[in-house]
Amino acid sequence: MAKLEIHQFPTRGDNYGVLIHDPGTGATAAIDAPDAQDLLAALEETGWALTDILVTHHHFDHTAGIEAVKRKTGCTVTGPAREAGAIPGLDTEVKEGDEVVVGGAKAQVIETPGHTRGHVSYYFPDEDIVFVGDTLFSVGCGKLLEGDAKTMWSSLSKLAVLPEDTKVYCGHEYTDANCRFALTVEPENEALQARAKEAAANAAKGAPSLPSTIGQELATNPFLRASSPAIQKRLGMEGRPLDEVFGEVRHRKDVI
Ligand SMILES: [Zn+2]
Repeated sequence: MAKLEIHQFPTRGDNYGVLIHDPGTGATAAIDAPDAQDLLAALEETGWALTDILVTHHHFDHTAGIEAVKRKTGCTVTGPAREAGAIPGLDTEVKEGDEVVVGGAKAQVIETPGHTRGHVSYYFPDEDIVFVGDTLFSVGCGKLLEGDAKTMWSSLSKLAVLPEDTKVYCGHEYTDANCRFALTVEPENEALQARAKEAAANAAKGAPSLPSTIGQELATNPFLRASSPAIQKRLGMEGRPLDEVFGEVRHRKDVI
């Protein structure tokens, strides 16, 4: 079993890039390629040689660096079959249940549409890590740009059942602002209050609040907590279908 080394770095303002490295084989993958220069600098810094890019979705701030990095490193680009036409340099198309190998580490592809039509997440069960792109954020979730609330709720529900100690790496750092919104939806949540304090302290010193864990998200993220009686009551939606409660939380976040 590989034990992946991980290097996380800020890029393009509020994006976060991630490199994973299997020291046993030397294989190294980038999760998305927001910016070629920043990604190449991260490779230089770590001394790792890129073998793969695992793409979560087609948005420019996740794919802009693919072509230049591929030219420079000769890496293989893997991404969602459902967005194949929109991802430059794509070599391998993947769908739900496919296995992706990075050196000795294996990932399962989980289709998580909603933010985009074909968004995928990469779950490494033996490493207790999931890369969720713009589907799930720390105390937040992606905007519903190409899907409805029902679709996104179904995607989030697939991530919510992963083991609670699974580390969650997402595409952007919005934790501090997300906590402030979450407190308007569920102010009585003590785990959320503590997380908000921690996120504010991290933000003040320019440190990331990433990665989080599935357990932390279940306890604090209002977009995973549609079944919370306090949230349902606050929204006046007691007993309503969970995807509708989720949809209302998403709507409120969109209009603030
Ligand atoms: Zn996106």
